[in-house]
Amino acid sequence: MEALYKHQIDFISYMQRLLQEGDFSSTYKFAFLHALADICIERDVPSNGQLVISFDEIVEKLILLYWQHAKPFFVEGEQLQGGILLQNSGKQAKIIADIIELQDSGARNLTQAKASTFWPQIYRNTLDTLKKGPLWRLQILSKQEDCYLFPHIKNRNYIELNPGIADCFRQFHDLVVQFARQGWIEKVSKIQENQSVIGRAGELSDFLFGTSRNSLKIAADLLKDIQHGNCFYCGKPLNEKAEVDHFIPFTKYNNDLAHNFVLAHRVCNNNKRDYLAAPLHRENWQDQNLVVHEDKITKELSAYFVCDAKRIAQVANWAYDIAEKNGNKFWFKTKDVFV
Ligand SMILES: [Zn+2]
Repeated sequence: MEALYKHQIDFISYMQRLLQEGDFSSTYKFAFLHALADICIERDVPSNGQLVISFDEIVEKLILLYWQHAKPFFVEGEQLQGGILLQNSGKQAKIIADIIELQDSGARNLTQAKASTFWPQIYRNTLDTLKKGPLWRLQILSKQEDCYLFPHIKNRNYIELNPGIADCFRQFHDLVVQFARQGWIEKVSKIQENQSVIGRAGELSDFLFGTSRNSLKIAADLLKDIQHGNCFYCGKPLNEKAEVDHFIPFTKYNNDLAHNFVLAHRVCNNNKRDYLAAPLHRENWQDQNLVVHEDKITKELSAYFVCDAKRIAQVANWAYDIAEKNGNKFWFKTKDVFV
């Protein structure tokens, strides 16, 4: 237990150093760190603790993380200002131009992007960027490479996390993602050319890491049908103030996987906040979204969201494991009833 404890302190200290001493001239390193944290909770960690992550996985995740960033930023309800945010001091990041090309070709999400004729080239470009930059720059602290997370070995198309690192990413996922996003937002807002486009920082955060409202409307219609017009949590008929809820809270896992959505009363949704729902709700969610309606959700929503029931099931395992380990309470119903 003591050894494990020290290991966790080391991990957090390393993260702190990384963000303080690292050189972040572009946002790639934040994206890469975010990607690593996400992949660690989407996968099972092998018994030797050394998770192998292919460049394929990382490239896809980077494209996914930058997807929203390639759209023109504007403040909801105000006139479109039509600027795409720079991710680099100086020249725009290559990945943004590439994603714009994918989006212009009609791809609305990663699944469609992968089917696009532009994909192979953009995949190669992103791989190239990864290898030249964040792959080895991430672990440079005060100008020296410190391969605490993974050894930096050339001529491989994967990385192998050092023992215990994947478990730390799982344990501290929220923290690492917050670190990465905060740094990312700060970087984007400090770039001078962006300042004429950006209004308020809160809105920038929603834009960079939020969910498209139009797509949520489509998910809401489908869920209303699946749930027979009832609230997922309390089972009572929905009114016009129904909201799409991320079953595994968005603050814990910041990717919109279609199978993670349920429809709830605004009151129920607001009361649940960022808590995990009680195990009984989890059973119902698995039954509804991952078994009975798995195919239907994929069929109806794959044009708008990533559909991967297996992945969200893994993420749920992760979230509930950690919550149980930490002795967290689970939200059960409105008026703050926990179990
Ligand atoms: Zn309700």
